[in-house]
Amino acid sequence: MTESYVIIGDGIAGSSAAETLREEAPDADITVITDEGEALYNRILIKEFAKGKLPEAPISIHDESWYDERDVELRLNTHVKNLDPDAHTLETHEEEVIDYDKLLVATGGTPTQLPVDNSDAEGIHHFWTFQDARRIKESAESGEKAVIVGAGLLGIDLAAISGAQDIEAKYLMRGDAWWRYALSVEGAEIMHNAMRDIGVEPVFGSGVDHFETDDDGHVTAAVDPNGDRFECDWAGVAIGLNFNTEILQGTSVKQDGGVVVDQHMQSSVDDIYAAGDLTRFYDTILGEYGQNGSWGSAKEQGTIAAKNMVDPESAEFRWVSSYSITHFDFPFLSFGHPTIGDDEVEKKYSDTEYRRLALKDGKIVGGVLIGDLAPQSAYKRLMKEERVVGDQKEVLMQKKFDPDDLAPTQEQ
Ligand SMILES: Cc1cc2nc3c(=O)[nH]c(=O)nc-3n(C[C@H](O)[C@H](O)[C@H](O)COP(=O)(O)OP(=O)(O)OC[C@H]3O[C@@H](n4cnc5c(N)ncnc54)[C@H](O)[C@@H]3O)c2cc1C
Repeated sequence: MTESYVIIGDGIAGSSAAETLREEAPDADITVITDEGEALYNRILIKEFAKGKLPEAPISIHDESWYDERDVELRLNTHVKNLDPDAHTLETHEEEVIDYDKLLVATGGTPTQLPVDNSDAEGIHHFWTFQDARRIKESAESGEKAVIVGAGLLGIDLAAISGAQDIEAKYLMRGDAWWRYALSVEGAEIMHNAMRDIGVEPVFGSGVDHFETDDDGHVTAAVDPNGDRFECDWAGVAIGLNFNTEILQGTSVKQDGGVVVDQHMQSSVDDIYAAGDLTRFYDTILGEYGQNGSWGSAKEQGTIAAKNMVDPESAEFRWVSSYSITHFDFPFLSFGHPTIGDDEVEKKYSDTEYRRLALKDGKIVGGVLIGDLAPQSAYKRLMKEERVVGDQKEVLMQKKFDPDDLAPTQEQ
């Protein structure tokens, strides 16, 4: 009998799984279901579109013919609302029941809304889909003032869009620095200065208590917990993701702040796999469960899941992720898990050059590089090799870091 594989989600995790499934199982039935109205596009590039720097066309990755050529059935605008793992079926919003032999849940997340008054007012944008980017672009092209909330990797994209569109923006942060869990204030200062250079003013010890609106329900200002009022024509909010796991409610698929999968992307229920942002996966490098929201990691998880759906436990996820920011005159890269660890080492080399490594049990588990990305491959290799280097911090921070300068690893 022909095996049937169903993938929910046509983001990079779902789409790369479909591609691998077709390679590994030439005769199988493969269906990809997405509630978006367009096939896979480059989510990483939608910020460049919103900045006005890229037209729509190059952002698309697959058109519908890509699926036809691979004999993959693509269902656009189709929301999966229920799952019955015992019957091996799922149900769409149109009450169509679809059977599967093996299922991949690659449904990613939906941006979290601020739990404050008027957070759903018109002109308040969250940033995840191409449609969001179109709306943000429209607001940015017609407005003059913006408020940005969320001191992380997506918030800074919204700040950069404001800068590129000549918007005067206030970037409201709760703490005293951007991405304070991954960078020290000293390192973050490089980013703050870069924001100021493009017309985005960081406001520390702030946040949003509530938004004000006009009579039409359009946002007019954000008021922070100190009572300071920031007028705006639009606001961009990026405070995190809620994973799209509603369909797993009532099933015994284990969740723990994400869908729990092993290193094969297998969930706790037979024939159900998960890949991409929504997983809490067994990280073979860390030796514990971890999470990651990045394009490369989601792509690799989709590939690994597909291999294991065809041939169980044949492939293992072992990956050091990277996430780069190219908004400013200098490059920025974070890799691995820069916000965890029990130790750290950092150094600021100049006004635009900084490095920080997060360490756990003496091993590198992540880091941030600003200005000079040259050592990234060496650091990532040391992380993947799980080499104990925490006792050689000075060598690690040498400007021209050469792993050959590290003392040989002692037998443990
Ligand atoms: C603006 C922006 C910039 C980014 N920049 C970078 C970057 O520079 N570098 C980097 O590494 N990463 C970046 N990321 C993160 C990266 O894009 C994500 O980690 C990655 O796209 C996650 O892929 P995914 O396939 O897991 O999930 P998604 O891409 O979220 O795909 C999930 C899909 O499933 C669909 N879906 C959800 N529920 C259902 C349902 N019930 N039925 C049917 N369909 C459903 C969703 O609509 C969506 O299309 C960025 C993200 C954004 C939004």
